[in-house]
Amino acid sequence: MRRLLSICLLLLPTLLVAEKAPPLPDYPVKQIGPHSYLIEGPLGLPSPENQGFMNNPGFVITPEGVVVIDPGGSVQIGEMVLRQVAITTDQPVVAVFNTHIHGDHWLGNQAIREAYPTAAIYGHSKMLAQVKKGDGETWRKSMLSMTNQATAGTVVLGPDHPLEHADIITIGGINFHLLYMAEAHSDTDLMIDIPTEDLLFLGDNVMSKRFGQMTHGTFKGNVAAIDLALRSNAKNFVPGHGPMGDRLMVEAYRNYLSTLRSQVVKLMDEGLSDFEMKPQVIKALADYKNWVGFDGEIGRHINRAYLEVEKEQF
Ligand SMILES: [Zn+2]
Repeated sequence: MRRLLSICLLLLPTLLVAEKAPPLPDYPVKQIGPHSYLIEGPLGLPSPENQGFMNNPGFVITPEGVVVIDPGGSVQIGEMVLRQVAITTDQPVVAVFNTHIHGDHWLGNQAIREAYPTAAIYGHSKMLAQVKKGDGETWRKSMLSMTNQATAGTVVLGPDHPLEHADIITIGGINFHLLYMAEAHSDTDLMIDIPTEDLLFLGDNVMSKRFGQMTHGTFKGNVAAIDLALRSNAKNFVPGHGPMGDRLMVEAYRNYLSTLRSQVVKLMDEGLSDFEMKPQVIKALADYKNWVGFDGEIGRHINRAYLEVEKEQF
């Protein structure tokens, strides 16, 4: 009996740790519009060091309450976002926008819902369908393993309010215009244009100084989504990852995607396989070689573009 008790006591701390990993340190919040704020995540992939934090959560303070965009990839990150909201305003959070299905952007919904049970969580209708299908659980597990359990305690809580292209949500007199293009970075990407803030949240349709996976999207659709964003009058743009910027920042990522794709088309015509064309494509993209993740992603990006073009030719 005594032995059993001591085993239980030994296990207790492990069980408690497994339940919820420690909090994330605070990251600085900066004002990026008359009522808009941003917490720029560090560059890189989810890791034990960054505890999974590497996206760009934003929030807008309206007279009716706070609207959060992409509260991050874990309950710990969502709680950090709420701490930054609380040092900026006394207003409650009334709504959340999730830009797309990739869990590094929205698993932090849990923290918002725990603190503000009536907050509406918006996402594209296809994102709601994919969470229902179980994709959120896949993301929860991959965040756990990539961070060596630093996101433990996170549960899947997807959006409950579906949105479509051209929807406008008005909160506290501020209009949030939703832009959607199928098969872009994924098939669920919403961009959020806030005209009165001169600001547009791009989600992962654009990244800056950092690359990510293209496994769930197409180069052609992603370029079309960027063109849609560039048709807005916004002056300031927030990418899914990396530093925010103006139209030039957006055009730089568009140029990466379109150059890669056109190189692949050209070299396919010359009869090269995706592996054989790699050195020439890398040469054409020399301007991007210092972006974080270039070496890790370039081969996969060429392969994705190759398969995409091959599919179109059938
Ligand atoms: Zn992402």
